[in-house]
Amino acid sequence: MRQHRIVLLPGDGIGPEITAVAKLLLDAAGEQHGFKLNFEQHPIGGVAIDASGSPLPASTLEACQASDAVLLAAIGSPRFDALPREQRPETGLLSLRAGLKLFANLRPVTILPALIDASSLKANVIKGVDLMVVRELTGGIYFGQPKGRIEADGDERAFNTMTYSRTEVDRIAKVAFDLARDRSGKLCSIDKANVLDVSQLWRDRVDALAANYGDVELSHMYVDNAAMQLVRNPRQFDVLLTGNLFGDILSDEAAMLTGSIGMLPSASLGSEGPGLFEPVHGSAPDIAGQDLANPMAMVLCAAMMLRIGLKENDAATALEGSVERVLAAGFRTGDLMSEGCTQLGCAG
Ligand code: ATP
Ligand code: MG
Repeated sequence: MRQHRIVLLPGDGIGPEITAVAKLLLDAAGEQHGFKLNFEQHPIGGVAIDASGSPLPASTLEACQASDAVLLAAIGSPRFDALPREQRPETGLLSLRAGLKLFANLRPVTILPALIDASSLKANVIKGVDLMVVRELTGGIYFGQPKGRIEADGDERAFNTMTYSRTEVDRIAKVAFDLARDRSGKLCSIDKANVLDVSQLWRDRVDALAANYGDVELSHMYVDNAAMQLVRNPRQFDVLLTGNLFGDILSDEAAMLTGSIGMLPSASLGSEGPGLFEPVHGSAPDIAGQDLANPMAMVLCAAMMLRIGLKENDAATALEGSVERVLAAGFRTGDLMSEGCTQLGCAG
């Protein structure tokens, strides 16, 4: 029987509740589809600070590095808000990303039919949307040197540098091309090549790589147009490839097409080694421990882990189907039923 080694990181707030749901479904999926998941659970974030003083204990990182995939629920608690930023629970996540050498952030945006309010204007635009944003995570203007603030000629000036190397573009583009090949075979690369030199290199490298992917239909789009097209006609997109800054903005924009933060999974991948799968939402301390959390983002993360991390596609489809069936049967958590916004596509 196929075996996979999974590290579970429940973390803080609603993390343990939604992890328990995902684990239940993963065990059942393994039983049905002929594989066994060997789970190890480790502390990260606030609970790890409480237990050991560090938001990412060495034993947690080592277990993650030795695993086939890591499923993380949520990190963060207001109890630590007074600490300096580098000691807070969230630094555990940054260290984990660095320790696993993750550079590609994947955010699928899928509109589930059960959540569309057919009477709303937005319904026609979002119906059938199924896209994936692939965002470069470790380069670009957020990390480029030089940066800073200087006094000059009686004025003050601040600057950051947007920079990408050929190698950096190639490795993220490869992730996007591979994904496009596994999906419907369409890739749209986002840049600002009409203005930025760094974007011209980006576009040149993506074009060069396209030679290895004859079965993928490649297009390029300027980021300002992409921002408009995402709200005008999101169905035209399958896989979107972006740098760090453009992806930060576009992935939040695309996410809001779906409505609730409680529905959104994400994955972070490196060139090799385990991927990290985590919901887009945070630890939701306001509802933790009250059995109010929507576990669907976490279940969809588990499905992404099965599909992308473990190549267990049938089991992934089964988990996605479980979410669709629960919604189709009419069950809703509070985040999907807030006042004045009972369905997607409403004004809220
Ligand atoms: P972080 O900085 O970790 O992202 P945050 O406070 O910015 O945390 P969340 O923790 O995601 O953001 O919470 C934002 C709001 O969304 C809260 O009111 C929370 O209760 C709600 N929320 C987040 N996740 C869920 C979920 N899975 N189910 C229901 N409500 C959720
Ligand atoms: Mg937040």
